[in-house]
Parts: sequence; C-alpha cells; structure tokens
Amino acid sequence: MTATAAGLVDELRAAVGAGAVLTDADVTASYARDMMPLAPAGHPLAVVLPRDTAQVQAIVRACAARRTPIVPRGAGSGLSGAANAIDGCVVLCLARMNKIIEVDADNRLAVVEPGVVNLELREAVEKRGLFYPPDPSSYDWCTIGGNLATNAGGLCCVKYGVTTDFVLGLDVVLASGELLRTGRRTVKGVAGYDLTRLFVGSEGTLGVITRATVALRPIPQAPATLVASFGSTAAAGRAVATIVREGMVPSLMEIMDRTSIRAVQDFQRTTLGKGSDSAALLLCQSDSGGEVARRELSAIEQACTDAGAELVYATEDLAEGRLLLAARRAVLPALETLGTWLTDDVCVPRTKITELIEESERIAARLRLTIAVVGHAGDGNMHPTIVYDASSADQTARAHRAFGDILELGLRLGGTVTGEHGIGKIKQDWLAREIGPVGLDVHRRIKAALDPHNLFNPGSMFAVRT
Ligand SMILES: Cc1cc2nc3c(=O)[nH]c(=O)nc-3n(C[C@H](O)[C@H](O)[C@H](O)COP(=O)(O)OP(=O)(O)OC[C@H]3O[C@@H](n4cnc5c(N)ncnc54)[C@H](O)[C@@H]3O)c2cc1C
Repeated sequence: MTATAAGLVDELRAAVGAGAVLTDADVTASYARDMMPLAPAGHPLAVVLPRDTAQVQAIVRACAARRTPIVPRGAGSGLSGAANAIDGCVVLCLARMNKIIEVDADNRLAVVEPGVVNLELREAVEKRGLFYPPDPSSYDWCTIGGNLATNAGGLCCVKYGVTTDFVLGLDVVLASGELLRTGRRTVKGVAGYDLTRLFVGSEGTLGVITRATVALRPIPQAPATLVASFGSTAAAGRAVATIVREGMVPSLMEIMDRTSIRAVQDFQRTTLGKGSDSAALLLCQSDSGGEVARRELSAIEQACTDAGAELVYATEDLAEGRLLLAARRAVLPALETLGTWLTDDVCVPRTKITELIEESERIAARLRLTIAVVGHAGDGNMHPTIVYDASSADQTARAHRAFGDILELGLRLGGTVTGEHGIGKIKQDWLAREIGPVGLDVHRRIKAALDPHNLFNPGSMFAVRT
C-alpha cells in the first residue's frame, strides 16, 4: 500500500470507525462485483460502510482530496457491472444506512435511507395500508439506493411505472462533499430543473444518494390471475398487441418463450400450458378487485382466444395465482441448472415482441447456444437469457457474440439496449450508439459539471474525455 493509500485508509477509519473500513483482500473481493458475469472488475483499496450522511460526506471529501475513485454500491444485485470495483477505488457500500425514517400515511409518502431493501420497504408500508409499487424480481435483496441509481423496473411496471415514477426527492452527496437536496414532499412541484430525475438512473456516476422521499399508493386488491398458452409466438404477439391497442391495463403481463417453458417444466416437473408443444405462455394479473378484475381478465381472455390461444385459464384463487406466477419466477433458477446464465435486457416496441423472440431463436441456432426469452410483455422489456458453459472458452466467446447480436437486434427493432439493468461496465459502446454523439456529449458535460475530477464510478456508463 502506498503512503497516500495508507493515509486515506487512516482518514476513513477516523471518519467512520475501524470496523466500517474493510481492507482484507479476501473480504473486499466479495464487494468487487455484481451479478453480471461479463463485466470487468478490479481490486478495491477499501470497502467503507458508512452509517449516516455526514460519514458519506467525510468519505467523499477524503477520497476527493487524493483523487481516489469511489464506486457506490447497494446490494450488488446489478446486472451490468455498474457496481463493480475498479483497481484502487473505495467501494462505498450503503447497506448499513438502512433506516425507514418516516412513513407519512396521510400524505402517502415515505422517507428512507438508501440501504433499505426493497421488500422491507414494501412490508413496512403495507402495515399502514400502503403500497410501494416498483418491484424488481430481486426485490428481496436489492436496495432502494440501487433501485434509484438504476431506475429499476419490475413485474408491475405495465400498470404502475418504474422507480422514477415514485421518487419525490433525494439527498445526494456531491463530489465536492456538499449535500444537495432535490425535489419536494408535495404531489406537484416544478421549481427549477428536475434534478431528482437527473440522479435517478445515473448509476452512481454523479453523486451518492443518502436519502429518498418516495410516493406511495393505497394497497391494491388481491390479484386475479390468467394464463394463456399459444402454439406459436406470433399468436402470443397478436394477443399482446390487442391488449395494448385496446387499452387494457393488467397489473402484470409476462411472457415466456418455448425454451423457458421447457426449462421450467423440467425444473418443476410440471406441465405448463399445453406442455412441451407450447410456443409461448402469457401470464396476466388484474389487481382491480371484484367485478372490475373479472371484466378486465375476461377482456384479456377474449383477446387471447381471438389471437388463437390453445388454452386460457383464469383464477381468483390467490394460492393458485401464486403457483402460476411461480413458473415465471422459476425461469432463472431453471436455467441455472443448465449452465451459466447471462441475461440481456432489451426493450422493444410491444408490436415487435414476436420478432424479438423469433430472431433470438435464430441467433441461438446459429451460435449453437440455448437462449430462453422471458420478459415483461406489458412494456416490451425482454430478457433473452443465454445459457453457456463458462468453463469453455469457445462457448463463452459465442455467448458474448450472442449478447451483442441481441442488442443489435433490439436497436434494429426500434428499441433500446437496456430497459432496466442499465449500461454499467458492459454496454458503454452501445449507449454511444443509441444516443449518438450529441447525446453523449451532453452526458459528458453534465458529468464534468457535477464531478469534474471523475471521482464517481469512472469508466462506468461512458468514458469521460481526458
Ligand atoms: C435475479 C435478478 C433479478 C433481477 N430483476 C430485476 C428486475 O426485475 N428489474 C430491474 O430493474 N432489475 C433487476 N435486477 C437487477 C438489479 O437487482 C437492479 O438493478 C437493482 O436496482 C440493483 O440494486 P442494488 O442495491 O443491488 O444495487 P447495486 O447492484 O449495488 O448497484 C447498482 C448501481 O447503483 C449504484 N448505486 C447503488 N447505491 C447507490 C447510492 N446510494 N447512490 C448512488 N449510486 C448508487 C451503483 O454504483 C451501481 O451503479 C435483477 C437482478 C437479479 C440478480
């Protein structure tokens, strides 16, 4: 360790206490990467676990004085390498800042620290009759700070929107160590630039979020569930198009392709839809309750039947609904038994879902890989998931190629290279392609204005000009 690094570690220990500064390489290694196997990761100098905003400010000032990069981190559940360490950095892990500071039921909002786990917030507000909708599938371990920094989505986006739709205000520690307060506690508010949304989705490149005020809703009714299976992807695509065009708004609408159906059937030793002949499965829910939910699901049932569904089944039984949804949630565990999974995250116009699935099948055949497509049909956010043998250099190279081919396909279909996982350390070139030179230049100017010495998460999302 250099004298500068040792001096920094001493200053960090003085700021947050020795127990909150980890430097043992065996220990810091477990904070060095997220869940994306493709992304590069370096060796951090230290991992620091602050307890409050003042400690975050002290850490940022100490690092800034020595130009030591900082990588903010929540739970490390990300799928883009955005929280991956770079050599010599300080990983600033917010996991210990996990207090729910306030639940204001009368104004339907909550104030939370960034390390609160998504599920804990959902459960805490539920006790007060309230609902925090953003629900990434990793909700039982990802943090609100990570959700904000990636603008996370989830299964119920189709009806409720994504994280940014529920953020009222933020506390952010800037590269100078100053504390910026953005936003409001009111329903409306248009004073100044919308700085809150500038930080939402900024992937830890502009500042460290230390507190958030989030909007809540009343708890919806218990969901009724519908499952429809189709003999062709095109038929499922037609059903989705009708549901969207006719303005039906299920609270969840998920699609599984043939490969995911087979993987889950083998994994759960069960039959989904019409069994191994099914080309696609659509799972929908309505949380409107009672007669309204029955009407909504009956309209969806009609759309599926008209599109040529081979089987449609609806239930108001909660346990049965949970079982049907369990099949969707089992896709990744099922694929895990077949090899290493690498999930892509393209979002395409909802009329292009069929093409996305069919072309992914062609990519899989061409590159001799398994690619299972599962996704949020309601918003077009698809997760073609590549399964490969990570111990084979040849298969790994083909998996990388498939990953890129799917991004290319997403752009060709008029979509985006990421619907929810972010750019991180794997899609920088793709961001540049998607937003173009002017968009990239504006990104760089914003970064330079807020973080002139490139302190926060350097190299992630895009490279700054030197
Ligand atoms: C099985 C599985 C399912 C998933 N399903 C979904 C899904 O349905 N929808 C979805 O959107 N994502 C999903 N994800 C991805 C991931 O869970 C989300 O991106 C999540 O928001 C990351 O939260 P985290 O706390 O783990 O953050 P991390 O992975 O630790 O960090 C993510 C990014 O946020 C930054 N960051 C973290 N905390 C702060 C902070 N306080 N201030 C500033 N920057 C910060 C980091 O620097 C990094 O750039 C899934 C992941 C897995 C493994």
